[in-house]
Amino acid sequence: MSDLRVQYADRIIDGKAFAEGLRARIGAAVSEINQTHGLTPSLAVVLVGDDPASQVYVRNKGRAAEAAGIAAADHRLDASTSQEELLDLVATLNNDPAIHGILVQLPLPDQIDPAAVIDAIDPAKDVDGFHVVNTGRLATGQMSGPNAALVPCTPLGCRMMLEDRLGDLAGLEAVVLGRSNIVGKPMAQLLVQASCTVTVAHSKTRDLADVCRRADILIAAVGRPQMVHGDWIKSGAAVIDVGINRVPAPTDEEPDKMGLVGDVDFDTAIAVAGAITPVPGGVGPMTIACLLAN
Ligand code: NDP
Repeated sequence: MSDLRVQYADRIIDGKAFAEGLRARIGAAVSEINQTHGLTPSLAVVLVGDDPASQVYVRNKGRAAEAAGIAAADHRLDASTSQEELLDLVATLNNDPAIHGILVQLPLPDQIDPAAVIDAIDPAKDVDGFHVVNTGRLATGQMSGPNAALVPCTPLGCRMMLEDRLGDLAGLEAVVLGRSNIVGKPMAQLLVQASCTVTVAHSKTRDLADVCRRADILIAAVGRPQMVHGDWIKSGAAVIDVGINRVPAPTDEEPDKMGLVGDVDFDTAIAVAGAITPVPGGVGPMTIACLLAN
């Protein structure tokens, strides 16, 4: 462990430990469903093609599901699969009462329109929370009851970690860096619902560092390695680093070694922030745990 991690240990939000606790609670809920209803929650995981990163994600999701007592059925399709064939599989899974959740791993090969596939998933089985019905429910604050939104897993995990660390978020100034449909936009919605004052920043934002420095809560989801430095961060702010960037990390023994870094420059940020998620071991593990929760 680096000296900084030791020096500022109380500032680190340990997503791995938080996710372990959440997964244990999900496991308990699953066994109760099992005992009360004689039913095993079941997740269908669909992977088209052989993208190595997607294979790792799909394997990890399947393993985590099974560890929580959720049955995971893998559907591996060839990279040349047509959109029609994939839509047929989605329709079969939608109509199968033994399947409760459907996850189609993105990205998809070029011949398939991801929006068409996401639109085809039954919103009640849309564990990624990407279907327009679920994004609409999130935007309108439909968060409980039988028609509650299924919320995208990454922002859901970020909000859980923030509330765990900060308690009530009402009135806090939040800046979300990034406006993608899977992270930035739903993150902003969740923070608005928590009564934060929210700014969404992106590649056209002027004076980005100044905007970030206003934040009591700074969410970085840009996909730019270590872009956010300590001098962009207000003293004491909570920093959630969503970024996962693969960068060269050569050592004497392994000159070609690659490593993972976030969108935040951890070493300069931790000296200023009040709380911060590391990469790896922050947002990533919570994303998978929230998938199981959905
Ligand atoms: P996208 O590429 O879809 O979106 C990136 C966003 O960042 C866009 O809104 C873009 O702005 C903005 N942006 C890009 N460059 C800059 C810049 N120089 N200044 C300001 N804004 C910028 O990425 P995702 O939202 O899908 O993912 C973001 C990061 O989070 C990635 O590193 C990804 O790997 C990671 N990720 C991690 C997950 C986890 O479980 N930990 C899950 C999902 C993603 P504009 O819209 O103007 O182009």
